[in-house]
Amino acid sequence: MRELQLWTTSEGLEATFADIEALAEDCRFRDCQHQGEPGCAVEAGIAAGDLSGDRLHSYHKLQREQQWLDQRHDARAALNNKRRWKTIHKAMRDRYKG
Ligand SMILES: [Zn+2]
Repeated sequence: MRELQLWTTSEGLEATFADIEALAEDCRFRDCQHQGEPGCAVEAGIAAGDLSGDRLHSYHKLQREQQWLDQRHDARAALNNKRRWKTIHKAMRDRYKG
């Protein structure tokens, strides 16, 4: 249960895959996805045997889950925002009515 909660924040993802994040510091691109980009230090680490390919695979898998969670969170935030404005607009209308 405790472990599941880790995946709800990107900080948790980074802490769990600290070894990959450390290698990623040396990737040529800051937004490197470690999926065959040129100059990828993570893939170089796998080629050198410093990191297992399975580990990168789990990393990508969790990253996708994280993105899904983020999107779901964003959608909910947008909905809440919409509701909030609806209430504000209604309050404004009511005020000017009288
Ligand atoms: Zn990379």
